[in-house]
Amino acid sequence: MVAVSEFAGTMATTACPFCGTGCSVLLEDAAAYPLVSDPVGRGALCLRGWSAGELLHSPLRVTHTMVRSRGDPLRPASAEATLLSVADRITAIRERHGGGSVGILASARITYEESRLLRDLARCIGTPHLDSFQRLGCGPSACASLASIEKAEHILVVGADLAARHPQVARRVLEAHERGASVRFLGSRCAQHASLVGGYLACLPGGEVPAALASEEDDLVLWSSDLALHGQAGPALRGFGSRRAVFLPDYVNQRGLLDAGAYPRPDGWSAWEMLMRAAAGELKALLVFADDPFEFFPALAARAFAALELVVVTDAVATRTTHAADVVLPGALLAEKGGTLIGVDGRPRTIEPVASASDSVGEGKVARRLLELLDGSCTELPGAAAFVLGPDGPAPDAPTARFPVIAALDTSTLWNEHALVRATVTARREAWGFSADFPSGFVGLGAADAMTLKVRTGGMVRIESDAGSLALPARVDPHIQDGTVGIPMSCWERAGSALGALALDPCLRIPVFRPRAVRVGRA
Ligand code: SF4
Repeated sequence: MVAVSEFAGTMATTACPFCGTGCSVLLEDAAAYPLVSDPVGRGALCLRGWSAGELLHSPLRVTHTMVRSRGDPLRPASAEATLLSVADRITAIRERHGGGSVGILASARITYEESRLLRDLARCIGTPHLDSFQRLGCGPSACASLASIEKAEHILVVGADLAARHPQVARRVLEAHERGASVRFLGSRCAQHASLVGGYLACLPGGEVPAALASEEDDLVLWSSDLALHGQAGPALRGFGSRRAVFLPDYVNQRGLLDAGAYPRPDGWSAWEMLMRAAAGELKALLVFADDPFEFFPALAARAFAALELVVVTDAVATRTTHAADVVLPGALLAEKGGTLIGVDGRPRTIEPVASASDSVGEGKVARRLLELLDGSCTELPGAAAFVLGPDGPAPDAPTARFPVIAALDTSTLWNEHALVRATVTARREAWGFSADFPSGFVGLGAADAMTLKVRTGGMVRIESDAGSLALPARVDPHIQDGTVGIPMSCWERAGSALGALALDPCLRIPVFRPRAVRVGRA
């Protein structure tokens, strides 16, 4: 018989490390539990939240410092000796090419204080190039709280598949519907819950903001990065800025990243531009803190990393980015950190470490040590200014007689290749539902379009725009609107390049998939 006390592990509360909703999780070693007292989760977690404890013991944890010479495998090394060497190499690169030859990629998986340290590190090195691929779609905007959903009489969900990306928000919206609020989903893809509330307003990709602004009765707008990822950040920020609106951040501390000033200065390069400049030989060193440029842009990241003189990656879990680095330092999970996270409505929230990180160096510790080592030669740049929005992004295509279908990203697949999802069993199992059958990608087709083409799931189709074409297996998806096709996030770079859809949106300075007019046929 086993004594009850043998099961008594340490139990403590932290924040779910996944989406920006901000549920609290009670961690007991590798097990995560929801808290009824948590005002966000209210006794429930989604599948990602349930998997939060698995991260502590994931076989993909980075537990040791590793270094390599180019072409050789990574080998263990002392953390302090490695940091001394990194500081020396940064100093040498800066002396040869200037501070602007070094770039820094930050993360929404670290605390506000750690993001501030990265901003300080950029200033110390003398580089204006600081950004993150996890800033995608998050812009400076006033935001109502999640609690406002409970009081709203009319709710308009714009371009957001809540079930896939913000399940706790979906729950609140369904509860609002049950108490009599009118709920409508507007988008090019029929969100999973639209049929439950009976209100789906279809529009073409890129047409969400004008359609939403034409609606006058809705008193609360919920929107996500879906619009920005299609080049509509400018119209959305302007249009929803004067209405009661909630922007739903994709990642846990995405707002903290912005509030800490971890974004490019006007004279700095954005995350995507850093990769482009590195591939062109203009950037010489890249310091990556819990970011994964290989997640969405594997081909560009591979070219960039091959051209860089030095790539240093600090992360809690192994990714394709750590595999391609010259130096890998162990990061820490949020559960192993204390600090501040910024919530959906911009309010700070303090977290305490609930698990030991004795083997971890941690992103903040790495940044602080590099600051100490480089301190004697600091080049002070001006502090962070407010994020300045640029001009609007590229306009979406409209269907034509030759290209009658619109191709857009299927952002419900946003989490499928995320570093933390890949490091768990539970969340990965959910994502694997797509990847198992289609390891090299797919294209989502509406049911009637698939019938017209006489294509079933798994059959090959060719998508062609005026810029080029590519062939992918079809996945018939009842949520895809006929007359459109959905490109999963894992194919963003490949399909975007082939179809001429991959572009830089000058408004938020992020890569986007411009909705493209295409034709689709059997390959
Ligand atoms: S809704 Fe978001 S914050 Fe809440 S458990 Fe799921 S992934 Fe975590």
